[in-house]
Parts: sequence; structure tokens; C-alpha cells
Amino acid sequence: MIGCACAVCQSNDPRDKRLRPSIHIAVEGGASILVDTTPDLRQQALTYGVTRLDAVLYTHNHADHVLGLDEIRRFNFVQDAPIPCYATEDVWKTIKRTFYYVFDGLERQGGGIPRIDVHEITGAFDVAGLHVVPVPLFHGQMPILGFRFGDFAYLTDCSAIPDASWPLVAGVETLVIDALRDKKHSTHFTVAEALEAIARIAPRRAYLTHMSHDLGHAETNARLPRGVELAYDGLSLDARVDAS
Ligand SMILES: [Zn+2]
Ligand SMILES: [Zn+2]
Ligand SMILES: [Zn+2]
Repeated sequence: MIGCACAVCQSNDPRDKRLRPSIHIAVEGGASILVDTTPDLRQQALTYGVTRLDAVLYTHNHADHVLGLDEIRRFNFVQDAPIPCYATEDVWKTIKRTFYYVFDGLERQGGGIPRIDVHEITGAFDVAGLHVVPVPLFHGQMPILGFRFGDFAYLTDCSAIPDASWPLVAGVETLVIDALRDKKHSTHFTVAEALEAIARIAPRRAYLTHMSHDLGHAETNARLPRGVELAYDGLSLDARVDAS
């Protein structure tokens, strides 16, 4: 956190240095898919070697998940193509307001706007050879999406899993799930709530994400049950995805 002197913000453990939440799916010899475009996207792509994108999927419209959309320009240039982006109708409404200059169709001197192929998510879909199952979640009052790819699911920014979504994550082997802190929060799972959801989903292994500076990496990890760990920037996991 800017201007915070707490032990976690001052920690020398690289796993306590957290950029905004996002994941990159790299299929061997195939698709390169980004979930969310954070304000840190440029730094994340440079650090972790994301050099091309077949698609971007959006979970929801909060600033920490969309404000890096303009960085798609660089992928347009490298790939000489628009990038397909997938979001729900509601999320597109706000993205189109926030990034009005990308979508208003006006010529701008000097060019330089991202080229986006708009795709609306209305259910499961296939992209770049990958089968994607959206998992509806509640982020406070707001309906948002998690995503399942084969035996892997990414459920960030959630405070409740609706009844109809539990079957969508049944049989997941690797789960990444929101756990903001220990103290109750209106729009995010606490660590205890995340652990309850993990126990019900029963993946082989689970990783907590979207932690606040309340949760230092080493000390929090030390108190988590077997098979559950804190995720960290740069964590790489193998999973079996479903081909389309
Ligand atoms: Zn702090
Ligand atoms: Zn959010
Ligand atoms: Zn968030």
C-alpha cells in the first residue's frame, strides 16, 4: 500500500510484493489467455514474459481488474490484429464508458487506441481452442464471474458462491479463490470463509488470492491447512484444461 509502514508493506519477502490480481493461461503450444487487465498489466507482462494474447476475459468492472485495458495496444501492434475480449453485457457497459475513446469511433490524431473485438459472455464458450466455463459469483451485491478451465478454477473477488455455481466447480483439482483478510468484509471472503468454500469444493490443492496487507505471506501460510497456500505474484501452476 502507498504510504504504509506496516510489517507486510515493509517486508523483504518477494511474495509480499503484490501487484493487482490477474492470471495468465498458457496452453502448451496453444492459447495465451489473460484474465483481467489490471493497472499493472504492463509491468506484469514484462516481468512474466507475456508476449502475445489470443483473448482477454473479464471477471468484473472494478478498477483493479480493468484499468490496464489500454495496454492491449502493444499486443495489437505485435500481432497486427485486434484482440478478442470477453465480458458480460453489464461489464461492457462500464468498460465502454471508462474507455470512451476506444469505442466512440472517432479518429484521433496520432492514432494509438487499442483495437478490441467485443464478445459478450452469455454462457460457456470456446476461445483459441480452450473451453471456458463462466462461474457466476457474488462480489457483495454485484454478480461477477469466476472462470473454470478443465480441472482449474479461478474465483477472485467473491463473497458468496450461489447455489447454482457449486456444480460448476465440482471436481476441480486446482482452485484459486479470494481471501482478503481475517476481518469480515462486505465484498470479499475472509480467510475462514475461503477455507469453508475450499472444504466444500474439495480440490486437490487451493491457493488464496487478492490478499490485503493484513496477511503477510510466510506467517499466513504457516497457519493454513494442508493443501492450501497463499498465491503470490509469479506463481505458476500446471493444470489440465479442456480443449474446445
Ligand atoms: Zn501495509
Ligand atoms: Zn472487485
Ligand atoms: Zn479486485
